[in-house]
Amino acid sequence: MSLSVPVSAPARSLDPLSHALRGAIQRVVDSGRWLKGMETAAFEEEFAEYCGAGLCLGVGNGTDGLELALRAASAAGREVVTVANAGGYTTTACRLVGATPVYVDVDDARLTMNIEAAVNAVGPNTRVVVATHLYGNVVDVELLTRRLAQKGRSDVLIVEDCSQAHGASVGGRRVGSLGDMAVFSFYPTKNLGAFGDAGAVVCRDAGLHDELAALHQYGWTSRYRSTVPYGRNSRMDEVQAAVLRVKLPHLDEWNDERRRIVGVYGSAISGTDLRLATDHTDGGVAHLAVFRCEARDDLRNHLASLAIGSDVHYPVLDCDQESQRGLHVRRETLSCSESARDEIVTLPCFPGMMDAELAQVVDGLASFTSRGASEP
Ligand SMILES: *Cc1c(COP(=O)(O)O)cnc(C)c1O
Repeated sequence: MSLSVPVSAPARSLDPLSHALRGAIQRVVDSGRWLKGMETAAFEEEFAEYCGAGLCLGVGNGTDGLELALRAASAAGREVVTVANAGGYTTTACRLVGATPVYVDVDDARLTMNIEAAVNAVGPNTRVVVATHLYGNVVDVELLTRRLAQKGRSDVLIVEDCSQAHGASVGGRRVGSLGDMAVFSFYPTKNLGAFGDAGAVVCRDAGLHDELAALHQYGWTSRYRSTVPYGRNSRMDEVQAAVLRVKLPHLDEWNDERRRIVGVYGSAISGTDLRLATDHTDGGVAHLAVFRCEARDDLRNHLASLAIGSDVHYPVLDCDQESQRGLHVRRETLSCSESARDEIVTLPCFPGMMDAELAQVVDGLASFTSRGASEP
């Protein structure tokens, strides 16, 4: 009997934690304090510690986190160097803040920012480079930092987007601790996910942290005294913080599960035309199992006929989104981003994925790659 295999299944890994999660939520309900209480403060401390980053601010979601980070970086009216293949979140934040996105290409193998392209695109008006650790693949932020310094542009701030890379590391240092600020989303399907929307911005600099803290709550520097312009409301709530505190100690083991799955896929497709864009070695955390296949739609149809889910992350480059027409942007050569867009396909990969499900996907890949081979 074949199972229906989803691309992700955020409830799967939670059975053993069900009691602890219910207890945590009950504790919040009983506390009578559902925002800016104990749980959020404790999570901020525990997550900063986990990242090795010093300071953490809980916010409403990852997109807000990017907006607040760009605002705190004084990116308004300036340029933000970023990639075009990472789902549009940075572009959305740029637009809200009034920054100009500058799109640079990605490396063909891992589909993360091409560092030389990013450094070359830095111009007199550049304020920020957003390094997105896409699919759990890490960007070498230390190299980026060095290359910016060599160019005499250490004034350019680096914001890591770690929304697909909780727990990943570069050279033994966790993402979130590598740039000037780092943004996390805890959307339910992320490597660390809440029971709804939540996000965080981590940083080491107390001045930036204070600025972020004011911006995330009405521009307040003290209660009812709004001193920072463009302050808004974007808070993590206590229920999400309590849930994340229960889950955080399990993040590393869940990441190991994701890496193991991608490792199995890697062995299964060796010698075929399929390639993996997800790098589960080298500190990566395999958020998504992303393959490249020239006949992507055929592969997706084949898998669908076997009840195996798939998705495309992402089918439209940021600079081609209809909603962003009229946004002032700078667009460098994007040939790798463009060819990848038409070939990428995301297959099931999540903690709690059963061996039978994994075997089913592996069999589906095998029957796809050998199709035609047995024809006379
Ligand atoms: C999910 C995601 C975001 C946005 O997070 P939300 O919490 O959904 O706003 C930002 N950047 C990347 C790379 C993401 O994957």
